[in-house]
Amino acid sequence: MSGERIVIVGAGIAGAATAWHLAAAPGSRQVLVLEREPDPGRHATGRNAAILRSLMPDPLLGALAAESVPFFRDPPAGFAEQPLLDPVGLFLGAPAEHAGALRSWAVQPRTGAVEVSPAELYRRIPALAPGIEFTVHQPDEGVVDVHALLHGFLRGARAAGAELRLVTPALRLHVQGGRVAGLDTPAGRVPADKVVLAGGGWAARLAAAAGFPMPLVPYRRHILVTQPLRQVDPRWPVLWIAGDEFYFRPESGGLMMSACDKTPVDPDEGEVPDPSEKERIAALAARWLPAFAGAGAAHFWAGMRTYAPDERFLIGPDPRCGGLYWCAGLAGHGITCAPAAGALAAAWIVTGASRHPAAQAMAPSRLLVAPAPVGS
Ligand SMILES: Cc1cc2nc3c(=O)[nH]c(=O)nc-3n(C[C@H](O)[C@H](O)[C@H](O)COP(=O)(O)OP(=O)(O)OC[C@H]3O[C@@H](n4cnc5c(N)ncnc54)[C@H](O)[C@@H]3O)c2cc1C
Repeated sequence: MSGERIVIVGAGIAGAATAWHLAAAPGSRQVLVLEREPDPGRHATGRNAAILRSLMPDPLLGALAAESVPFFRDPPAGFAEQPLLDPVGLFLGAPAEHAGALRSWAVQPRTGAVEVSPAELYRRIPALAPGIEFTVHQPDEGVVDVHALLHGFLRGARAAGAELRLVTPALRLHVQGGRVAGLDTPAGRVPADKVVLAGGGWAARLAAAAGFPMPLVPYRRHILVTQPLRQVDPRWPVLWIAGDEFYFRPESGGLMMSACDKTPVDPDEGEVPDPSEKERIAALAARWLPAFAGAGAAHFWAGMRTYAPDERFLIGPDPRCGGLYWCAGLAGHGITCAPAAGALAAAWIVTGASRHPAAQAMAPSRLLVAPAPVGS
C-alpha cells in the first residue's frame, strides 16, 4: 500500500479506534500500530469497568459520548460476532444532599435525560439500602464487551491494510526539520510521515523526551469484584451514586464495585494496587449494600485514567511539531467515547482540520497557550 506513513503508538482503545477510522477514510495511506506488549489492550483498556455511560457533566464530552452510543447499539456489519453492548440500563442516583448538583447537569435539554422515581431503582435492585432520593435512568445503556470492541477495531483496520506490530516499544521520537521523521524501536528505526501518540498513561513520555511536554497525568483507580453472590441478579442495572462516588454492577455472578479513587501516579506504578483501597470499597459497600457486607473479593486491581488539566480529551495535531498527533487523555470515558474519539483523531490526521464542535476544545493547542507576562 502506498501513501503517507502513519505510525500509531499504542494498541489500547485510543490507538485501535484511530487505526480503524484511518483505514476506513478515503485515500491511500500506510497505517502501522506499534504496541510494546505481547497483546493489545493490556492496560487501561483491559482494566476498566466497561460501563457505557453517556451522561457527563461536561457537555462536549457528553456530545462525544452521545455520538458514540449508536455505534455500540448498531455496529457496522461484520464489526463483531457478538453484541458490543448489554443494555442492562444505567441509573445515576443521589442522596438528598447531592440531588441538586446531579439534577443540574444531568437533567437538561442537551442530555434528554429525565428524572425517574427512586422506587423504580429500588424495584430493580431490592438489596440497595435506603437513602437514594433522586434518580436518572438511561435504560439503553449498560455494559460494553470491551474485548469485542477493541478487536473489532483492530480486525477492521488490519482487513483494510493496517499492520499491528506487537512486542515493539517505540523508544524515541525522531524529529527532523521541525517534523516527525520516525520512531526508534529495538528493531531499528520505523520511518513515519505522521505519528499518533496513543500510549494511555505513558502517552506524554515520548513527546516530552523529544522536547514537547504535555501536561497529561495518569490517576490510579481501583476495582473490586466480589465472589459470586446468590442474591445478585445478573440483570441488575449499573448504579452510580453521586456524592458518595461509588458505583457497582453485576459481574461474573458477583458485583463489580469502585469507590472512585483518583490518585496521581507515575505510569510505571499506576497499576500497583493499594490494599487500603479495598477497605474504602468495603465501607461504601456496607453503607449501600449491607446484605453483602463481608463478601469476599474474587478480584481486585488498579488501572490508570489519564487526564489533561481541564479533563478534556487530547485529540489532534501538536502545533509544535509537523506530523505529530495525539489521541490520549481519554480519562474515565475512553470506552464510551472510543468511536467518536477515533473518528475525531482520524479527521485531523487525514484532512488537517476538523469541523467537529468539540475539535478546538480537545485540540492540543489549547494546553500550549503561553502564560501572560507578569504585570500584563
Ligand atoms: C479502573 C478504571 C475504570 C474505568 N471505567 C471506565 C468505564 O466504565 N467506561 C469508560 O468509558 N471508560 C472507563 N475507563 C477509562 C478507559 O479505560 C480509558 O479511558 C481507556 O481505556 C484509555 O485507552 P488508551 O488506549 O488511551 O490507553 P491504554 O488502554 O492504556 O492503551 C495504551 C497502550 O499504549 C501502549 N504503549 C504505551 N507506550 C508505548 C510505547 N512507547 N510503545 C508502544 N506501545 C506503547 C501500552 O502498552 C498500551 O497498550 C476506566 C479506566 C479505569 C482505569
